[in-house]
Amino acid sequence: MYDVAVIGAGFAGMTAARDLSADGYSVIHLEGRDRIGGRTYAGEAFGRSVEFGGAYAHWTQPNVWRELERYGIALAAPMAIDKLYWLADGAVHSGSPVEYAAVGEPLIDRFVADSRAQFPRPFDLSAADTTVIEKQTLADRLESLDLSPYEQDVVDGMMSSLVHSYTEQGLAQFLFWTALNVGHWRSFIETAGQWPIQGGTRRLLDAIAGDSTAELRLTSPVDAVEDDGSGVVVTIRGGERVRARQAVLAVPLNTLHDLRITPELTGPVRRMVEEKHPMRTRKLWVRVRGEIETFVANAPVGKHPVNTAKTEYRHEGDTLVVCFCSDASSIDPDDHDAVQRALRLFVPEIEVVDVAAHDWVTDEFSQGTWVHHRPGNLTTVVPLMHQAHGRIRFAGGDIAPMGVGGIDGAIQSGAKAARDSARALADDRS
Ligand SMILES: Cc1cc2nc3c(=O)[nH]c(=O)nc-3n(C[C@H](O)[C@H](O)[C@H](O)COP(=O)(O)OP(=O)(O)OC[C@H]3O[C@@H](n4cnc5c(N)ncnc54)[C@H](O)[C@@H]3O)c2cc1C
Repeated sequence: MYDVAVIGAGFAGMTAARDLSADGYSVIHLEGRDRIGGRTYAGEAFGRSVEFGGAYAHWTQPNVWRELERYGIALAAPMAIDKLYWLADGAVHSGSPVEYAAVGEPLIDRFVADSRAQFPRPFDLSAADTTVIEKQTLADRLESLDLSPYEQDVVDGMMSSLVHSYTEQGLAQFLFWTALNVGHWRSFIETAGQWPIQGGTRRLLDAIAGDSTAELRLTSPVDAVEDDGSGVVVTIRGGERVRARQAVLAVPLNTLHDLRITPELTGPVRRMVEEKHPMRTRKLWVRVRGEIETFVANAPVGKHPVNTAKTEYRHEGDTLVVCFCSDASSIDPDDHDAVQRALRLFVPEIEVVDVAAHDWVTDEFSQGTWVHHRPGNLTTVVPLMHQAHGRIRFAGGDIAPMGVGGIDGAIQSGAKAARDSARALADDRS
């Protein structure tokens, strides 16, 4: 009988397992894959390490920043960008970063104008009346702005690295993210996608793992978690059963429906788990020949297979370009000609040397990328998952109270689940 079974070894589960084991609790830590990190995955490509999943962090994200400081890890400075390309109203436009900002930011500022009004205290969702925005999608907001086709494409392209489907993604999460960044789009986008962790996410994960004395078992997918009234029984694929007093279930929202959870999930939580979140993005790494001019290119969702491309690193005389494709099925990473054609729309001479990607959508342990909640879920259903479900607690970036959708939120949520489990264990003993 362990004190706690932690299921999932992404940032949420790693944090929970470390915090609980460091406090002296006996912890079994079960992970389905043969590696830790979950949707952060610093893998090998082009003879170096690249981040196939979550990569960027920021000093304004309190939870990840505290961990980085704790282990003496810095952020790597992003490469300066010389040129912007944007596909709008059927034509490619280009300019300096300042010129692009002058075109796009006043428009996108209108998109998020009410973020602070909607979330006056982002740390306290009960202060927000989200009745109206929780019924709306990103498409509803875009439509309401009454933009010209050119302006609409500019806004769409600027947001496209964060969008899979305007009609499925809830407006509330977008406004919430912006409110967390004091209502400024530019701050939000900087925190979301510019500063990689120096040495990669794996370095931070290894540091956390180094402080954990939990019994970590990789390649141990969990099929069932049952609160049987006196404790928790966790069934690993193949049939092995593990008993614990409490459980922290730190798996992606989109994989929860594969688990048998007892007591069963009911009501709106069950509906949210069954519907899954809609994010089906593909992150591609493209090695292109030579040290080319640095650029960012943006295209509206559904109008081009690569929606954001950004020069990220120099590597052995070549340049690595990171791309976000709103729909993973819109481009095949093995089809280098297709990738080259897509990039040549913006940079006609660009020559693709190699491409690498991980398919998060078909991966059974993620079934999607980062979370973006559908309308009606973020401020009403997600908070229900912060409460204990018997002896089971949910954790993860997908349901984090503040840093939802990111590494910061995963750490926040894992730490909270650890504290709540420790309190429950203390209550049991007294
Ligand atoms: C392409 C991409 C880019 C991203 N970019 C960023 C970024 O730049 N910055 C940022 O902050 N965030 C980013 N994110 C989001 C970020 O990676 C996630 O929000 C965060 O890593 C989630 O951590 P987690 O621990 O909640 O979940 P996960 O990392 O998904 O961990 C859950 C773990 O549970 C395991 N698991 C699943 N099912 C089972 C089972 N049945 N039994 C046992 N184990 C199981 C999984 O294998 C996994 O290891 C990105 C995500 C993706 C996919």
